[in-house]
Amino acid sequence: MKVRWHFACLSVVLLLLLAACQANSSASSPEPITALATTSQPPAIPTVTPAETAQLSPTPALPADFSGDVAYRHVLAQVEMGPRTPGSEAHNQVTEYIQAELEAHEWPVEFHTATMLGHPIRNVVAKRGEGSPWIIIGAHYDSRFFADEDPDPSMRSEPVPGANDGASGVAVLLELARVLPAELPAEIWLVFFDAEDQGRIEGWDWILGSRAFAESLETEPDAVVIVDMIGDADLNIYQERNSDPELTQQIWSIAQQAGYEQFIAEPKYSILDDHTPFLERGITAIDIIDFDYPYWHTTADTADKVAPESLEAVGRTLQIWLTETDPRLAKSAD
Ligand SMILES: [Zn+2]
Repeated sequence: MKVRWHFACLSVVLLLLLAACQANSSASSPEPITALATTSQPPAIPTVTPAETAQLSPTPALPADFSGDVAYRHVLAQVEMGPRTPGSEAHNQVTEYIQAELEAHEWPVEFHTATMLGHPIRNVVAKRGEGSPWIIIGAHYDSRFFADEDPDPSMRSEPVPGANDGASGVAVLLELARVLPAELPAEIWLVFFDAEDQGRIEGWDWILGSRAFAESLETEPDAVVIVDMIGDADLNIYQERNSDPELTQQIWSIAQQAGYEQFIAEPKYSILDDHTPFLERGITAIDIIDFDYPYWHTTADTADKVAPESLEAVGRTLQIWLTETDPRLAKSAD
């Protein structure tokens, strides 16, 4: 995009020079002046001073950097809806919110529906770009029915507010939707998974939405990156052991070069998450997750535990990966 932007700048400069040359040649030649004087149309070159130009028509915006503050507002908006437990009004409301935000940034939205264990599943899918590589960035939008890790036993039948566990990943994807350029030398899908977080509850299981989605794919993406629980104000993202090692290395090294010390280049946990169904299909997939979160599956997973800086570290790293490096992997390059 930088190359194209520079070309666009150069084109504008050339046009201005050309206009200036024409104006000079017009001034030195009487005929064009006569022609201009007799026409009733306004002059082709409007008499706007540079100062007015700056005020009235600002330069086209360069691709924006991922903003942790904007992403944090998406966390607040989701938490204000209430717990996004499957079947609840808030669960429906968050899909409408996701759809509206995506469409506001000109991402066409589709719904992938399925039935898993008798439950209706509704994944939200936004697609942009064409060609290779084909990258899926995913996060779950549901929050857990029961805060069964709450230190207070009387709270364990309450739902999880899901500020970090749910809303943070959605927030990163929505802010990526705003900052990713309209034209990318890749095909990007932002996928918001339903029903990730209901395991160990009778009649449910973990990762139902991503499992249904992975099963529905007719061809295989080059890479899948899941973000989950990445909003913790005390963010420490160790490498997840089931994740593709090469892609893990690539993302962690981008983060470290960008100065995001929240990414720690050591393996720690093995986690079942929305990357698992893709790994099971042999697709390159990683999970970016900070599992050292004391409020995990408790009623204290609230927005005050989430920090804009944490969302920004993750979102900006993914933005750099998608736009400033070649996200093509060894697997897709062969
Ligand atoms: Zn969870």
